[in-house]
Amino acid sequence: MQVLVLGAGILGVSTAWHLLERGHTVTVADRQDDAARETSFANAGQISVSYCEPWASRHAPAKLLRWMLRNDAPLLFRPRLDWQQWRWVLRFLGECNDAAFERNVRQLVALGAYSHEALKETVRATGIGFARLERGIAHYFTDAAALDGAAQAAALMRRFGIARHVVSREELLAIEPAFRPFAHRIVGGTYTASDESGDARLFTEQLAARCAARGAQFLFGHDVTRLERAGGAIDHVRLRDRTTGAGRSLRADAVVVACGSHSGPLLRSVGVDLPIYPGKGYSATFPIVRPEAAPHVSTIDDEVKCAFTRLGDSLRVAGTVELAGMDTSLDGRVARARCAMLARRVEQVLPGVCDTRPASQGGDPRYWAGLRPATPTNIPFIGRTPVGRLWVNAGHGTLGWTHGAGSGKALAALISGDRPAMAFRFLGFDDAASGRHA
Ligand SMILES: Cc1cc2nc3c(=O)[nH]c(=O)nc-3n(C[C@H](O)[C@H](O)[C@H](O)COP(=O)(O)OP(=O)(O)OC[C@H]3O[C@@H](n4cnc5c(N)ncnc54)[C@H](O)[C@@H]3O)c2cc1C
Repeated sequence: MQVLVLGAGILGVSTAWHLLERGHTVTVADRQDDAARETSFANAGQISVSYCEPWASRHAPAKLLRWMLRNDAPLLFRPRLDWQQWRWVLRFLGECNDAAFERNVRQLVALGAYSHEALKETVRATGIGFARLERGIAHYFTDAAALDGAAQAAALMRRFGIARHVVSREELLAIEPAFRPFAHRIVGGTYTASDESGDARLFTEQLAARCAARGAQFLFGHDVTRLERAGGAIDHVRLRDRTTGAGRSLRADAVVVACGSHSGPLLRSVGVDLPIYPGKGYSATFPIVRPEAAPHVSTIDDEVKCAFTRLGDSLRVAGTVELAGMDTSLDGRVARARCAMLARRVEQVLPGVCDTRPASQGGDPRYWAGLRPATPTNIPFIGRTPVGRLWVNAGHGTLGWTHGAGSGKALAALISGDRPAMAFRFLGFDDAASGRHA
């Protein structure tokens, strides 16, 4: 089969890889100059099978309201004159109950476990290195009430087979001694040994190179300008070369939309209406200046909702969510407050471990913002759309790196006529899920 994959982030590249594994002929089109240049570029690096709770829970609405006035709030909803945004928020609120939470967690855990195996298989097959650290993921708390809530969440996750355990402050510091300078604030935490971390960009770039070596054609620097329908199916896809401005049309037996947050508008242009809305997040990558004092265990800071991940000789700190449209700028008031918060937090928690100085003072911090392709349930859309030949692999929100390998493998199986062995509701295959999402 000839398959055209739109988007060369972790989802598009992983789909391409698994399609090649199944003997298909693959073309990948992306507007950027290389793979992983948008949301898969500088995320928190956590392969977080166990920390997969959806944002929508019964506690979320109150928090959302409380945080609306704080520029550095972990989750910031900035209302706009944007029907898609309001519709997304209404659907999100509809998921903020215990029954929906459990239903969503069940699927996220299933996809996470399947994906982790797929990632390990891919690494075994390719030997790709990506600053990987198989040291688990920890989560520390500075507030006793929040820690109590975490104990309940850990118990819930254990019911789904996830080995997340509550640990005392001393146990947490034994797992990751780098947080000792902040010990006076830590009241305890949770830990899952089976999670890991690594650089999504490095992995995606190298997997794309392996795909190209196996014969996949990459059309970088090409905008996807239109999906053209004829009757009930995709007829062709219009691309425009960003350098020359030249247009071209491509036909394929199957077209996969894996354009992250941009998948929503692209799909709507052919009548496929999926609630994928951008959740802007920020990261800062600082050079480590005291390697012996830097953490190896990727860790979530519950108070400010950011993650610290060591990537070789750098520390990545990332987090926060802003529901504010397709904006990746770093220079607005809110963006500056968020970037400043990340640098401040690193110095509070790991004082002197990194060079957090701004460039104006001789430092070399790398700030970045990306758009998580968020769905109201946190569950991605993997499967076929009602439009013939049109497939989707998008909407992975906070967990696209974690779920990337398995989502690509699963979609390649579906396109090939196989059913992945996973308790997950695939779009276009499981009507209950499709009905709720669409
Ligand atoms: C701050 C932050 C921290 C995160 N931390 C983690 C984490 O620790 N663990 C985790 O699992 N996940 C994390 N995520 C989420 C994860 O990064 C995303 O879910 C994932 O990168 C999404 O991948 P994607 O392939 O769907 O999208 P993208 O990586 O954005 O890829 C989409 C591609 O489509 C292309 N494209 C879009 N529109 C067009 C068009 N019209 N024409 C041509 N090309 C187009 C883009 O150029 C891009 O290359 C984080 C996200 C953020 C923002």
